[in-house]
Amino acid sequence: MTTDRTKLRYWTRREFVRAGLATAGALALGACGHIRTPRGSSAIESTAELDELAGRIRGRFLRSESSGYDDARKVWNLAYDRHPLAMARCADLDDVRRCVEFARRHSIPVAIRGGGHSYAGFGVADGALQIDLAAFNTVRVDPHSRVVSVGGGTRIKELLAATLPVGLVTPMGSCGDVGVAGLALAGGDTAARGLFGTACDNIIGAQLVTADGEVLELGPGRNKDLFWAIRGGGGNFGVVTRLDLRLHAVRTFHAATFSFGWNDIAGAMRTFGELVRETPDEVRAAFDVDPELGASTRCGFYGDAVAAAAYLASWKTAFRSVEPRMESSKPDPQGEVWTTTAVAVDGAFLEGMTGNVVDVLARAAIAGRGIGAMLMGLSNGVASRVGMTDTAYPLRGMGLSCLLSAQWERIQDREAAVQWVAEYGAALQPWARRAYVNYLAPSSPERIREVYGVNYPRLARVKAKYDPANLFRSNQTFCLRLAASDGLHYDVLANPRQHFARPRPSGRSLPNIGLHRTHFARL
Ligand SMILES: Cc1cc2nc3c(=O)[nH]c(=O)nc-3n(C[C@H](O)[C@H](O)[C@H](O)COP(=O)(O)OP(=O)(O)OC[C@H]3O[C@@H](n4cnc5c(N)ncnc54)[C@H](O)[C@@H]3O)c2cc1C
Repeated sequence: MTTDRTKLRYWTRREFVRAGLATAGALALGACGHIRTPRGSSAIESTAELDELAGRIRGRFLRSESSGYDDARKVWNLAYDRHPLAMARCADLDDVRRCVEFARRHSIPVAIRGGGHSYAGFGVADGALQIDLAAFNTVRVDPHSRVVSVGGGTRIKELLAATLPVGLVTPMGSCGDVGVAGLALAGGDTAARGLFGTACDNIIGAQLVTADGEVLELGPGRNKDLFWAIRGGGGNFGVVTRLDLRLHAVRTFHAATFSFGWNDIAGAMRTFGELVRETPDEVRAAFDVDPELGASTRCGFYGDAVAAAAYLASWKTAFRSVEPRMESSKPDPQGEVWTTTAVAVDGAFLEGMTGNVVDVLARAAIAGRGIGAMLMGLSNGVASRVGMTDTAYPLRGMGLSCLLSAQWERIQDREAAVQWVAEYGAALQPWARRAYVNYLAPSSPERIREVYGVNYPRLARVKAKYDPANLFRSNQTFCLRLAASDGLHYDVLANPRQHFARPRPSGRSLPNIGLHRTHFARL
């Protein structure tokens, strides 16, 4: 049992919604976040140049003709079937620098692969040079200063396996296979964020290889703009080869889960909305709709069992007709294991848990029976109180982080999954502005500007300064043409391969998969 059961099976972004089914994938995937060639770029013309790079790096180097290429290019979300130009499993910092310099010289986009769990499949990109950081998985814990330093490809389970034995933890997500940097650089939808802030709030230092191949140390007072930008702005600014994270004492999580099935989902949501309007920092809560099981909510309290029982009594009273399942747990290194799948997702920022929002969500739940999942996770306490412009991460103020997700195993189920996500992502549009970028499909520049709100212009300026050719664009990236003052413009070529992959042949079953979906709702 882990401390975070707030998982959903599918999710999708709102671009699907706007464009309609036929064009949804192309629009969402062909927008700013995708492989595009900067104006005036020249692709490499012979394999000799790649041979030279292969000969200069210490790690494994794969090209399309290499054996193992097809396995290596797979990412967790099988919806993305992309063909990189080459994949370099970098063995050390010099390998990373050589790859970045090569990519810059030849105007080849870079895709950074950490844990390979991007819902948007960003760890691989058509025509890109993939920098695979799997070998960057060292974890160094200093229990005295309560700091952990992790390599840029470290997974959550590797981090926790090193910190839990000394009774320490840093806020992370629920799946042990997810990359620490991939999660933390985008912000993080994490456990215990009410007490300790979210993942990016706990970054106190980093080492970054910039598009120029320069190795920079970031931290308070060191490369201030970049340090600000990597705390929420994702992998847009370079390859993070090391992250330093603050640690906190592990606390026991005491939780009550109330299951409603398919009965009065709107009523249960409204009560949930009331209960989370004001919470102690120790509380973590989420409302979940599973396509098979229906609705449930889980509320937990980090800390003392007596204080937890006293707090949870109010939830028992509010949901008095439903007997809760009670449990106590501590973080588990592996967390939940979510098997590789094909999934569509959408996330959004909801301005409030108003009657209208609840109506839409309740309709989505019923329409999504057997198809899609929804999750609304509370963001409260310390994470909510950090100033909006203190970091690039824009989901401040108390709210609900929501995710819609729909997965498919058979080709005939794909359309219903994508359509459900598209329809209800669109229905949430009037209340959906900000969102957690890691819970979005590849999104249009307009959407990303909306998501980051007041922080967007500074992000675009930092991007323009450190990555003017947009080398690192296998991301929810910042299209500089939207930053009116910088005068930069990119010739963006949508790559025809950036579409949903064909689903697996019917009859081949997949193990149960979890997917998060997230919207962020101000309460
Ligand atoms: C099963 C599952 C469960 C999840 N649960 C949670 C959760 O509980 N909370 C949460 O917040 N999110 C969660 N996510 C979302 C997750 O945070 C993102 O998908 C994240 O991008 C995954 O990082 P990765 O390194 O595994 O992915 P990758 O596909 O390897 O990387 C994705 C992108 O992250 C950036 N990146 C990764 N590493 C680096 C680096 N070292 N330097 C620079 N850029 C880098 C790059 O842009 C890269 O393309 C979950 C996703 C899945 C599939």
